[in-house]
Amino acid sequence: AGCSVCFRRNFSSSPSRLQSCMSAWVIDQYGTNGALRYTEEATMPSISSPTEVMIKVYAASLNPLDASMRGGYGAKLMRLRRDPLSVMSDDSEFPLILGRDVSGVVLDCGSEVTHFTPGDEVWAAVPPWKQGSLAEFVTLTEYEVSHKPKSLSHIEAASIPYVASTALSALVNAGGLCRDSAANKRVLITGGSGGVGTFSIQLLKAWGAHVTVTCSQNAEGLVRGLGADEVVDYTAGDVAEKLETMDKFDVVFDGVGGDTEQYAMGLLKPWSGAKYVTLVTPLLLNTDSMGLLDGTLHAGFTLHSKAIQNVLSSGVFYRWGFYAPDGPALDEVSRLVDAGKILPVVEAQFPFTQVPQAFQKLEQGHARGKTVVRVA
Ligand code: NDP
Repeated sequence: AGCSVCFRRNFSSSPSRLQSCMSAWVIDQYGTNGALRYTEEATMPSISSPTEVMIKVYAASLNPLDASMRGGYGAKLMRLRRDPLSVMSDDSEFPLILGRDVSGVVLDCGSEVTHFTPGDEVWAAVPPWKQGSLAEFVTLTEYEVSHKPKSLSHIEAASIPYVASTALSALVNAGGLCRDSAANKRVLITGGSGGVGTFSIQLLKAWGAHVTVTCSQNAEGLVRGLGADEVVDYTAGDVAEKLETMDKFDVVFDGVGGDTEQYAMGLLKPWSGAKYVTLVTPLLLNTDSMGLLDGTLHAGFTLHSKAIQNVLSSGVFYRWGFYAPDGPALDEVSRLVDAGKILPVVEAQFPFTQVPQAFQKLEQGHARGKTVVRVA
């Protein structure tokens, strides 16, 4: 499709400009890596509400969700979020732009934006129901955006927002931890060497918690360097057996799922308000396979029955953790980064021309931190 030219802003505080197209990696249908297509004719996002901010993207990063969404994961629920009244066609999300993290510079602000002005360096985690950051520009609401830490480059900054928003939402809302309550709490993080894990270790250490991590043997140096107090190599023998010899935990933060849940409940301090929080939930798989209503009901029933069973048998709480967009929470992370308490963990970086190679790296697994894409 060619580039249409029209006025792009209704609410902006500065004079209108002509809309133009932008460079982006898009998919036109769900599929494997071959579905990714580079174009210089993607529609440039416009400011469509007075509280929106348009950002020029300097760097983006990839999360496991990007590879899953490329394959159609969560499509039904995301479509509902984008189009609650179902007035658009079934494939209205295409061309879809992936990429959940952005570090960049504010280009333009809606008339009611109060915290940002053009030229501000910002970072954000783009909600999965919005067009993503593997593009020259992205538009978000002011509430989703935060000032980028001054001490980080755009590449470094792009490695943090989505994993930070996920970890904060899960640890605070589901895990009941915060800056003032985490001191000396014993927390177990499974999958400590990946994106969420490497961030969470540092956040919890900054909050004064005692952190135990499970990871592969060759990631031990990395997670200890980030502050982990105790490390258990899950590849050498029975991980549950080793963890059972340790003092019990106040919170288990599970980024692995599967069998972990079976033994993790028994690692928690009984009858003390201890919590198991998993990021690996069946919600989107259920809605994809069963439809929105049945899938949500089924997931709700699963969660409810596990929660009841565990609280009645041993007084521990079973919870699901989710990413949630939260600019003010990123402000707090920004302060911790600038204070030197949280470091970015960039494992690999790719130029914008090599987004498919970045996806290949992501899909090989065994992440040691984050894969970042240099956009500008
Ligand atoms: P990553 O791919 O960045 O990291 C996963 C890490 O886990 C890798 O370092 C991997 O290394 C390690 N790992 C794999 N198997 C095990 C195991 N059995 N025990 C311990 N470590 C293991 O993923 P993220 O950190 O970004 O995300 C973690 C999980 O959380 C993913 O499943 C993701 O989909 C989910 N998630 C859910 C969200 C939500 O809203 N619910 C939001 C964000 C993430 P190695 O294989 O070498 O050991």
